[in-house]
Amino acid sequence: MIWSSEERTMANTQTVLIHPAVDNGIKRGKPDFSGGVLTCHCTSKPVKVRVSAQTAHNHVCGCTKCWKPKGAIFSQVAVVSRDAVQVLENGDKLQVVNKDAPIQRYACTGCGVHMYGRIENKDHPFYGLDFVHTELSKDEGWSAPEFAAFVSSVIESGVDPSRMDGIRARLRELGLTPYDTLSPPLMDAIATHAAKRQAKPAPAQAGQSAPAASAEARQGAATEAQWKSAPTPPAKKNESIFARLLDKLFGGGQRQG
Ligand SMILES: [Zn+2]
Ligand SMILES: [Zn+2]
Repeated sequence: MIWSSEERTMANTQTVLIHPAVDNGIKRGKPDFSGGVLTCHCTSKPVKVRVSAQTAHNHVCGCTKCWKPKGAIFSQVAVVSRDAVQVLENGDKLQVVNKDAPIQRYACTGCGVHMYGRIENKDHPFYGLDFVHTELSKDEGWSAPEFAAFVSSVIESGVDPSRMDGIRARLRELGLTPYDTLSPPLMDAIATHAAKRQAKPAPAQAGQSAPAASAEARQGAATEAQWKSAPTPPAKKNESIFARLLDKLFGGGQRQG
């Protein structure tokens, strides 16, 4: 292809759809906003969840685990204190998508919508925060999406790699800086958490490493010792230690369950 990057951008961004909440421009959050009610897509007996605070770090996410509305290639997801999340109605329809995942995603068994994601591992850097999709609320004023996370992972969901230039260009056009992990402030928060834990004496169970660990996995163990209480996924061929760490923290990979 002999297009200039400008021509390529113009040709592609017109048809790139990211997520319905951002495709027609991003709505700004209201500074005095104090929350609202999330409702699943069921026409009868919908699950309702109250989020009684403004959300933070809202972003679009390309990972294969976050719930996406039909046709969207990204999800939109934000965090809020778990104390602010309360199931109001039809909670009996909720089921955890994968009990072994670092984020327990509570999905409606009727429509499949994820109502909230919760971290139960107290050693996880984001423990105390629930993940929510504020587009499930009619209330206006939720914090606006600020960046795009795990962008390259949309390829794992079936997006043709040749579309990535156009997708990244569209994200930039919308003001959503594309990252292939999380945003720098969130990655810094994870690293700070890891550094603080490394400064403490090694935990007693540090010797219990997985049997028959590969050289790569052993190298990763120094970093991963902090996340011991969550199960470590088996190393996949050609998978980096960093990819495994992220998978352990967020379940961002292709594993289903
Ligand atoms: Zn539902
Ligand atoms: Zn995600």
